[in-house]
Amino acid sequence: MFTLRVHWTIAPAIAPRPLIHCNRCGGVGSYRCSEKFRINANGKRIDAWLIYRCVDCDNSWNFAILERQARRDIEPALLTALECNDPALARRFAFDAAALRNRAGRVEEFADVTVDKALLDGEPGHASALRLELRLEGATALRLDRLLAGELGLSRSRLRALEDRRRLTVEPDGARTLRKPVRDGVAIHIDLAGEADRCAILSAACR
Ligand SMILES: [Zn+2]
Repeated sequence: MFTLRVHWTIAPAIAPRPLIHCNRCGGVGSYRCSEKFRINANGKRIDAWLIYRCVDCDNSWNFAILERQARRDIEPALLTALECNDPALARRFAFDAAALRNRAGRVEEFADVTVDKALLDGEPGHASALRLELRLEGATALRLDRLLAGELGLSRSRLRALEDRRRLTVEPDGARTLRKPVRDGVAIHIDLAGEADRCAILSAACR
């Protein structure tokens, strides 16, 4: 029995948004990342923030990146990237949902992702099992079963039935993993021997 091994790189499309009391709107508002940094140099100490704006009124909120950090302790490349609003750096901080939650309390996460598929081993026409290795480029609220259903063209009830028969397994294993948000480093193994639409599923996995 041959296994088709495919690597999926999953990139969230919308950065998490802190839910903050907006004093201009007078209620809790959703703040989106502006992808701009603000830097304040006070003598030899540097503060840096990533700026967020209320989606309704544009009021700003500062996500602290550096707090009164000695200039000599900051990598020059990081300082340059902050000063020129480097989009890759802004994205790295903006998708760190855990750090954002520490600062803001509540955070709204989104389920929109793009999936980049790379075939590692095997041929779709000559395999009867599928092994998917997932790499996540940032936090997403997308559930694993919804990701698999959408990308493989299978219903979620069929995925659950495969899981019940232990023909679908997830590593590392956990309770109700299929119903939880996709995690970085997860691998999914699906035994498709005897499934009539095996070829369609296998080619969807790498296309
Ligand atoms: Zn507002």
